[in-house]
Amino acid sequence: MYDGSPRRDDLAGRLAAVRERVDRACAAAGRRPDDVTLIAVTKFFPASDVQLLAGLGVTDVGENRDQEAAAKIADLAATTRDSLTVHFVGQLQSNKAAHVVRYADVVQSVDRLKIARALDRAADAAGRRLDVLLQIDLSGAPGRGGVAPDEAAALADEVAALAALRLRGVMAVAPLGGDPAPAFERLGGVARVIRDGHPEADWMSAGMSGDLEQAIAAGATHLRVGSAILGSRPLAR
Ligand SMILES: *Cc1c(COP(=O)(O)O)cnc(C)c1O
Repeated sequence: MYDGSPRRDDLAGRLAAVRERVDRACAAAGRRPDDVTLIAVTKFFPASDVQLLAGLGVTDVGENRDQEAAAKIADLAATTRDSLTVHFVGQLQSNKAAHVVRYADVVQSVDRLKIARALDRAADAAGRRLDVLLQIDLSGAPGRGGVAPDEAAALADEVAALAALRLRGVMAVAPLGGDPAPAFERLGGVARVIRDGHPEADWMSAGMSGDLEQAIAAGATHLRVGSAILGSRPLAR
């Protein structure tokens, strides 16, 4: 249904361009586009954009700031909310974990046991099972979030043992300023090791607006694309 909105046309155009990039990168890598999930990262953009994206066939959205995400998801029409998988991709404090569980279907940024335990308690209290990914630090610079690659398998075993969590795989951001390709290859290696021990953990969330091609080449199953779909982000408020 065409609603005559210039913003809708704007989003539709950029979404189509991103889907074309995904198709080309999949063809180059000998992969099926159906095996790659596009997550529209809607941080800083309003619930009305999420509504429009859902109307354009987007099935997955990502948010990285707890307060903003909670308000935005609450603003969605119930049918839109139910049609979407909501991914939390931001840094998380253990005292925020219970809050995130109220609106997120997937938490991608688990990087220590304390967070995992807090999510597990909150999911258990809510009577549900929460999908989680381990965030892997590819930068070697502590503090930006993520578990070190050589500590990931041990954390995976601990997280997989928590009954209200379902370990689905790994997530990472390419290091700032470096070549993303070798970083994503390294992530692919970590993903394989974890998958060997936990067959359900077959997701690899990698690739953003600037490096989705390299992520697809390295085996990413989930792309987190913000500005290439939504336009440049407004300045932080
Ligand atoms: C903002 C964000 C993205 C999307 O970044 P773009 O460069 O705008 O595509 C992806 N992943 C995380 C964790 C983010 O915070």
